[in-house]
Amino acid sequence: MNKVELEKIKQKALQEHIPIIMDDTLQVIDKILKEKKPKKILEIGTAVGYSAICFSEYLQNNGIIDTIEREEDRVKEAKENIIKADVKEKINILYGDAVEILPTLNSKYDVIFIDAAKGKYPFFLKEAIRMIEKDGIIIADNILYKGYVMSDYNKHKQRTAVRNLREYIKQITENPNMETQILEVGDGLAISKIVNN
Ligand code: SAH
Ligand code: MG
Repeated sequence: MNKVELEKIKQKALQEHIPIIMDDTLQVIDKILKEKKPKKILEIGTAVGYSAICFSEYLQNNGIIDTIEREEDRVKEAKENIIKADVKEKINILYGDAVEILPTLNSKYDVIFIDAAKGKYPFFLKEAIRMIEKDGIIIADNILYKGYVMSDYNKHKQRTAVRNLREYIKQITENPNMETQILEVGDGLAISKIVNN
């Protein structure tokens, strides 16, 4: 992987206010991936490919990341970025709405990273559970959503997102086949290890 290019991709995304994974969040996931050495990763929400490029460093030989993005411009830029970063062979970008694409996928994944429309998190979870390996890990970003999720202030326009993020947290904490941690890094990170699937 080309780290100089990676830094350029990051700076451009920050300048253009494209949402990319925060440094402290990335550090936590780096550690998990380093230990896990995944063969297959699924990412929901590519943006311009920054996180996928970062994750690709921890794949096993011949490992692959499938990543889904619904905005055409971002898909285009992500495709350019994975070439620049020299990881084209490791990242497979799927263009379309994850709500439609996920049900068509039938692979198993060691790690699934959810980082897209917050209102769809319960649906993404259902699909992630269907495709996660027996000892896999499901990770969700932005799970605390600027603190809205844990506050009782409920009258902002993000109400649907907040309701669905709460539903996601409820499901992962109540699921007997998961060991879940919720960390206050970045915008909140939920890490659910499959223990007994
Ligand atoms: N993982 C990226 C950041 C993703 S930002 C990184 O850290 O570098 C979230 C992205 O998800 C946005 O680009 C948005 O267009 C996309 N997205 C949101 N809802 C989606 C959906 N239902 N299907 C596919 N992509 C979606
Ligand atoms: Mg995010």
